[in-house]
Amino acid sequence: MRMTQLFTKTAKEPPHDAESANAKLLVQGGFVHQEMAGVYSWLPLGLKTLRKVEAIIREEMDALGAQEILMPGLQPKENWMTTGRWDTVDVLFKLKSQTKKEFALGATHEEIVTPLVKSFISSYKDLPLAVYQIQTKYRDELRAKSGVLRGREFGMKDLYSFHLSQEDLEDFYGRAMEAYMRVFGRCGIRAKVTEASGGDFSKKFSHEFHLETPAGEDNILACTACSFARNAEIATVKKGGSCPECGAALGMTKGIEIGNIFDLGHKFAEAFNVEVTTEDGEKQLVYMGCFGIGITRLVGAIVEASHDDRGIIWPKSVAPMAVHLVSLSSKDASLQARIRETAEGLYDDLEKEGIEVLWDNRTDVSAGEKLVDADLLGFPLRLIISEKTLKDNAFEWKLRQEKTSSLVTVQDIRDEVIAFAAEE
Ligand code: ATP
Ligand code: MG
Repeated sequence: MRMTQLFTKTAKEPPHDAESANAKLLVQGGFVHQEMAGVYSWLPLGLKTLRKVEAIIREEMDALGAQEILMPGLQPKENWMTTGRWDTVDVLFKLKSQTKKEFALGATHEEIVTPLVKSFISSYKDLPLAVYQIQTKYRDELRAKSGVLRGREFGMKDLYSFHLSQEDLEDFYGRAMEAYMRVFGRCGIRAKVTEASGGDFSKKFSHEFHLETPAGEDNILACTACSFARNAEIATVKKGGSCPECGAALGMTKGIEIGNIFDLGHKFAEAFNVEVTTEDGEKQLVYMGCFGIGITRLVGAIVEASHDDRGIIWPKSVAPMAVHLVSLSSKDASLQARIRETAEGLYDDLEKEGIEVLWDNRTDVSAGEKLVDADLLGFPLRLIISEKTLKDNAFEWKLRQEKTSSLVTVQDIRDEVIAFAAEE
């Protein structure tokens, strides 16, 4: 993409009311636009990252054997009455139609998926079964804050699994946990698994996945020696106390919850009476699990995990684009023409190869401003061509996360970039 075609612009300053790094940098870079508290539009560059994160999640959920579906955002009140959650879920957005019929906006989808799956299963042969969706959720959060970390409208991947036995659910649960760690790892995040409240579903723990960062809202008690961690909300252990797993001291740390998985037991199967016939011809309730990842929050978490005072440092796997090509202007008309031609030649070559490149082809912007923008946008590889680099018949090659740069000749540049883009 040529920068002159990109309709979004970077801003000189971050929004004055933004406190968190993700809110500052995502808005300043033109990745997202805030429409109101907790509600964002995703703009071309931000959407590219969001789509890459979604693609990683899809791959891992498909590999788990789950089937993708898409359920409605607009949901009937009756289903929420059936589970008793119409009046107890305080973040549920409720609305009325012209004829005074009541609806909920989907804050989660157990109320839809359970009767949906029920209509297709009748026998043990139909199990196990897992479905997932990538969809917009609505929650009437009291305080929408911290940029895309806590929205009133946000993206989630939610997966629901159905099993014949507790053992089978637990086996799937373990495999889902591994898939989650792969998702976060591929997004450049080392997630911490935290025991958390089982909610009103079960007396057991649920498991949260956290990015450890001072920017996080959650307080986590974590062992200083082993991997044990528990959300401080369920203060069954104390700071300074000893780890229930290994006995070492427990410390307090902060984290952003990027995922949460639950053993739902029979809770929803009971509410909607979801039974299958067993091998012995008996009727039996199914066991359910639910598995969420906050997709838009995950993008915000990636920014919290990976930025400096100049801008975002996108991990290559989820960067909007791999390459930021910058051509600097020259006052000398013939040099200017050569710079432009050389940059355009490389740009065309890379586009042909299917490598995503943003070419800063603006002619009315200073070198300083272009470099500031490149740091702010934070793509992994920056290539600069200028009067100075042309003397060496080369491009300057600079990785966003490194301080130093090098020169790569005009002759070699295409192949070098192709090799860079292909690296894991
Ligand atoms: P929180 O405790 O942060 O309010 P939750 O525990 O209520 O979240 P879940 O129902 O577990 O959220 O939803 C699954 C995932 O969706 C969460 O792990 C989180 O990553 C994401 N999520 C939840 N609420 C929001 C929100 N308001 N904005 C963005 N992402 C959210
Ligand atoms: Mg949660």
